[in-house]
Amino acid sequence: MFKWIIVGGGIQGITMASYLIKQKKIAVEDLVIIDQHAEPLANWRRCTNAISMPYLRSPGVHHLDVNPFSLDAFVKSNGANEAGSFLGRFKRPSLLLFENHCDHLINDLALKQAWVQGTVEAVSKITAGWQVHLQNADKVQGENLVLAIGNSEQLSWPEWAVTLKDQCQAPVYHIFDPALPEFEEMQAPFTVVGGGITAVHLAMKLSTLFPEQVTLLKRHPFRIHDFDSDPGWLGPKKQISFRKASSYQKRRMLISQARHKGSIPRDLHIKLLHQQRKNKLQIEEAQVHHAAFETDAVQLYDETDRLLHQSGTVLLATGFESMMPGGTWLPSVIKENRLKCANCGFPIVNGNLQWDQNLYVMGSLAELEIGPIAKNISGARQAAERIIGAH
Ligand SMILES: Cc1cc2nc3c(=O)[nH]c(=O)nc-3n(C[C@H](O)[C@H](O)[C@H](O)COP(=O)(O)OP(=O)(O)OC[C@H]3O[C@@H](n4cnc5c(N)ncnc54)[C@H](O)[C@@H]3O)c2cc1C
Repeated sequence: MFKWIIVGGGIQGITMASYLIKQKKIAVEDLVIIDQHAEPLANWRRCTNAISMPYLRSPGVHHLDVNPFSLDAFVKSNGANEAGSFLGRFKRPSLLLFENHCDHLINDLALKQAWVQGTVEAVSKITAGWQVHLQNADKVQGENLVLAIGNSEQLSWPEWAVTLKDQCQAPVYHIFDPALPEFEEMQAPFTVVGGGITAVHLAMKLSTLFPEQVTLLKRHPFRIHDFDSDPGWLGPKKQISFRKASSYQKRRMLISQARHKGSIPRDLHIKLLHQQRKNKLQIEEAQVHHAAFETDAVQLYDETDRLLHQSGTVLLATGFESMMPGGTWLPSVIKENRLKCANCGFPIVNGNLQWDQNLYVMGSLAELEIGPIAKNISGARQAAERIIGAH
């Protein structure tokens, strides 16, 4: 019997583990992290590496360790070049620094000792806590259970792309698809569909690999925002009024309004325009309505059947679906344990993110309590803080 079971070893789950060990002095032997992947942070690494994001969007105080200045201290203690590790006035860490720091934390806390690779397919309440059932028929019991399952596996595909893929083997891929072929195996020229930070990072990367063979096709003018929601959402300025909203419909509306969906920070916009001026890539604005694959080219059309663009490969940088994670097994857990959910289907939890006795949620499952930052690193830190506050 473990003291704590964490389902999901992504950004959220690893942050939780680090808070439990460092703040609550839970021994690593009393903790188990169950995840489908062989290694921690698999989705994070796959997505950020696919687009070769050089710097994080969030500031250097947002990482998976407890002490907010841990990343700073890590740079100093490793004699790394601080100027090269952080970017700009928000001190955004480089991806390399962030990942080295994550690795250091994971090793330091011996989190791989707590790692169990497996897929959770059911959860049931037992007298002493919770029992987690894995696909391979193993069972794991724990006093407390944290659900830290994200939605980085629920890729958002535009309807026209789904239709095209149903019709033929067109070279249209979602950039976060785990089965994404190597870029070198793909047919140029490339069209990147999307107008947010992922699309821009990807277009920049491809424009260095395949200069003059990349078009960024976006459906709206660039939305320039340093962060993906107003920094007021990190603290009481916005959070107090959010929590005062007793209607969960209203909270859902506030979350949607607060998110700067499809936005990019100013410095990235400047770099992109620079690449455009050097003719390394093209930027076009149009909305794809339907597509066809003929004579080795993907043809993208608008709703008047006008040919917008033609390319060898289309890469979708269209993000993730925002539906509730755990779709295949969580609904029966909700039903059996009569767990409270809002109209949007997401958990209604208390201030400690408790959904039932000794059952906690974080990440997107905690959105209605944490607010628009729930899925981010800052949201993981706040969630972990609140969960340990219950004990
Ligand atoms: C390209 C990119 C850049 C980003 N940059 C930033 C940034 O700069 N700053 C920031 O704050 N945020 C950033 N984010 C957002 C955010 O930090 C991530 O989306 C975050 O990784 C979400 O973490 P998670 O733990 O919720 O999900 P995941 O990383 O998906 O982890 C959840 C884990 O749970 C596992 N799991 C799910 N279901 C089961 C099951 N049934 N059984 C077993 N295991 C299961 C999954 O396999 C997965 O490993 C970025 C996101 C992306 C994609």
